[in-house]
Amino acid sequence: MAIVQTDTASETSKSTLDQWDRSHSWHPFTQMQEYASLPQLHVDRGEGCWIWDTEGNRYLDANASIWTNAHGHNDPEINAALKAQIDKIAHSTYLGLSHPLGAALGKKLADISPGALSRAIFSDNGSNAVEIALKLSFQYWQLREKPEKRLVVGMRNGYHGDTFGAMAAGDSQGFHGRFDPWLFESRAFSSPICEEVNGQVFFQNSEKSLSELEILLETEGASIAALILEPSIQGPAGMRLQPKGFLKSVEALCRRFEVHLILDEVFVGCGRTGSLLACDVESVEPDFLCLAKGLTAGYLPLAATLTSESVYEAFLGSFESGRGFFHGHTFTGNPLAACVALKSIEKLERLIDSKRLESTVAYFGERFDAAFRGHPNVGEIRQRGMAAAIDLCPDSGRDPWPIDERVGMKVCIEARKQGLLLRPLLDSILIVPPLVISAEEIDFLFENLKTALSAAMKKLSN
Ligand SMILES: *Cc1c(COP(=O)(O)O)cnc(C)c1O
Repeated sequence: MAIVQTDTASETSKSTLDQWDRSHSWHPFTQMQEYASLPQLHVDRGEGCWIWDTEGNRYLDANASIWTNAHGHNDPEINAALKAQIDKIAHSTYLGLSHPLGAALGKKLADISPGALSRAIFSDNGSNAVEIALKLSFQYWQLREKPEKRLVVGMRNGYHGDTFGAMAAGDSQGFHGRFDPWLFESRAFSSPICEEVNGQVFFQNSEKSLSELEILLETEGASIAALILEPSIQGPAGMRLQPKGFLKSVEALCRRFEVHLILDEVFVGCGRTGSLLACDVESVEPDFLCLAKGLTAGYLPLAATLTSESVYEAFLGSFESGRGFFHGHTFTGNPLAACVALKSIEKLERLIDSKRLESTVAYFGERFDAAFRGHPNVGEIRQRGMAAAIDLCPDSGRDPWPIDERVGMKVCIEARKQGLLLRPLLDSILIVPPLVISAEEIDFLFENLKTALSAAMKKLSN
């Protein structure tokens, strides 16, 4: 009897995949009506900073597979670690049991984190890392007999994820505004302004932001549990930068008013700004530190919320005391993910110690500046570490584009034709390549993005 080979996805024709996807997938952060009108791309494989689609076309992964990839795709060292672990066990629960990789990763994260941060709670995405920090802070003040401390302060334009606590603490009206009636009460202070490329500062202002925060803490500090912000760069808001020294001032205000400082390093952590952690640069010691995206170098879902021994101790007591922290996820501390995170951090330390990341950041900033400063269709440009953004604008004299012109999306569709994978944020283009991108690949990125920009502009003016 002949063996009939099953129709595996990798052997399925493009048109069938298109149809399956159009009929049965609902993509995140995607207006599906628009998606259905655009050419579909099915990713087949990756190698280094490159991705191939099922048709054999090659693209530079210029958004690091949504800001996660550090060491490139298909990294031989990470693959080897993963293969060794998968032959042992793929998953075991972390609820009441441990495993060597979880224990080792907890220790490693404590070693690389600032100051008193000594305990890691694992979860599997950035939103959950934030939920855990918020809930820990809320419960902590109850346990310390200060239950009136329950408000959360966030910074304007902050993004901390799409779960309810993360939405309530954040300020992404465009994404989450319609859920306002379901969100818990929070406070916000304005974010500072900073324009910078390659370490050169063009404009910065943090006074208004800090004085607003000070007034808020003076009036309501007694009922505020925690302040949360993305240090250094508000990535999802379009790479909005904070001036140097800003974070240190926020930390001082939190200390003065006895408010927990939660740093959401989901985007900026794990090498993105050029150092292992963004808070290191300013010697800031938060009460909670949230890591996700880059933690597993773009391989597997894993997040960590770090906190101090003094927070941890508040939760100790007999079982009946009810002081324990009841929050966990089925895949908390997954061994495959933990094994990748350990290997990735080890590689990241090498990348930083060898100064390779520093020189990549310098070249990235230099070429970015050369490509887009003064470009007729680019307004503000911002860059720090391996993250950059350009705000698109019409030729001088022309009216601003209406929102439904979808200019950012059009540029990204043109960029695909030039071999670049990118995602827009309205009319801004965010550029976040893997940390190991080479000089030649950086040249490729900016050359082809410029070509795509011209092509899109030409079509718009016709
Ligand atoms: C992506 C992101 C999150 C949410 O992480 P998910 O893994 O998508 O839930 C939170 N904060 C920041 C700063 C992020 O960039």
